[in-house]
This record gives sequence, C-alpha cells and structure tokens, in this order.
Amino acid sequence: MKVIVIGGGPAGMMAAIAAAEKGDQVTILEKKESLGRKLLITGKGRCNITSSLPITEFVSNTPGNGRFLYSAFQNYTNQDIIHFLERYGLKTKEERGNRIFPITDRSCDVLEVFLTRLKELGIKIETQAKCEEILTENQKAIRSTL
Ligand SMILES: Cc1cc2nc3c(=O)[nH]c(=O)nc-3n(C[C@H](O)[C@H](O)[C@H](O)COP(=O)(O)OP(=O)(O)OC[C@H]3O[C@@H](n4cnc5c(N)ncnc54)[C@H](O)[C@@H]3O)c2cc1C
Repeated sequence: MKVIVIGGGPAGMMAAIAAAEKGDQVTILEKKESLGRKLLITGKGRCNITSSLPITEFVSNTPGNGRFLYSAFQNYTNQDIIHFLERYGLKTKEERGNRIFPITDRSCDVLEVFLTRLKELGIKIETQAKCEEILTENQKAIRSTL
C-alpha cells in the first residue's frame, strides 16, 4: 500500500517507520526544510525522551480523559523507544523525576537515529512540501495537494 505521512516530527517519523516495517511504500511530506526541527529544541536541546514510570502513571498524568491512550501506550511502551534508540547505539539515562534523556544530552542524536531508520527502510522524504488539502473519494484519500 502507498502511504503518505503528513508532517515529519517524531510522531510522523515513527508512523512512517511503523508503516514501512509492515511493507508499505511510504512518503513523508514535511513543510519545513528538514525533519524533526521541533524535536531538536525539546528538553532544552537534550530531548526528554520518555519517563520510566509505569504506563498506568502515563494515563493518570494525562490531562482530561487519558484512558483513550491506554492501548497506544501498551502497544509502544517507554521501554520500546529506549530499546529502539539503543539498537542504533544511543544509550539513555534516567534523571530526577523519572525523566529519560539520551546519554549524550543531545537531541540531535535522537533525531539521527530516526533519520537512519527512515533511510534504511527507503522512506521517501519531501521537504518544503506543505500539505494544503487531502482529496477523498468514497471516504478514501486519493491525493493530497501541496
Ligand atoms: C520548548 C519545547 C520543549 C519541549 N520538550 C519536550 C521534551 O523534552 N520531551 C517531549 O516529549 N516533548 C517535548 N516537547 C513537546 C514536543 O514538541 C513534542 O513531544 C514533539 O515535537 C511532538 O511531535 P509531533 O511529531 O507530534 O509534532 P511536531 O514535532 O510539531 O511535528 C509536526 C511536524 O509536522 C509538520 N507539519 C505541520 N503541518 C504540516 C502540513 N500541513 N504539511 C506538511 N508538514 C506539516 C511540522 O512542520 C512539523 O515538522 C517540547 C515542546 C516545546 C515547544
């Protein structure tokens, strides 16, 4: 199946990776000049990747009704992202408040792992490609306009 992911932030990159791992042919459309630009400024440039707390705490700490996130948190856990980064040689560390950071204290190292995996999977990346509209037919996306 052909998949277009709109937005190359951490969520879009991870969605693209998950689809490509299932065998889909994936393209990311990103309106800025490069992927993950916001990720680079997260955690004051260090990227607070996740928390070591149990998933039940993630849910109870989510404002409003966090229960709808339960299955997402179960399907891809805090340990999964830690193992993913470690598989690409980026170790993590825990700091006060159960916060997990890359051992290098550099958010760009987190981005680099994502970019490496996107490349490995042959995911196509189009930057400076702002999606303006999604055209549908019979409730299926047929094309996006830039
Ligand atoms: C100062 C600051 C510090 C933060 N620190 C942390 C932290 O340490 N840990 C943490 O987990 N979170 C942190 N966050 C929250 C963080 O921004 C999010 O966790 C993360 O960036 C969310 O990823 P995302 O992919 O959902 O969205 P984004 O990172 O915002 O990515 C969305 C992408 O979609 C692109 N896009 C949007 N519209 C279109 C369009 N129409 N067509 C094409 N592309 C489009 C955008 O350009 C962008 O690249 C921080 C936020 C800020 C502002």
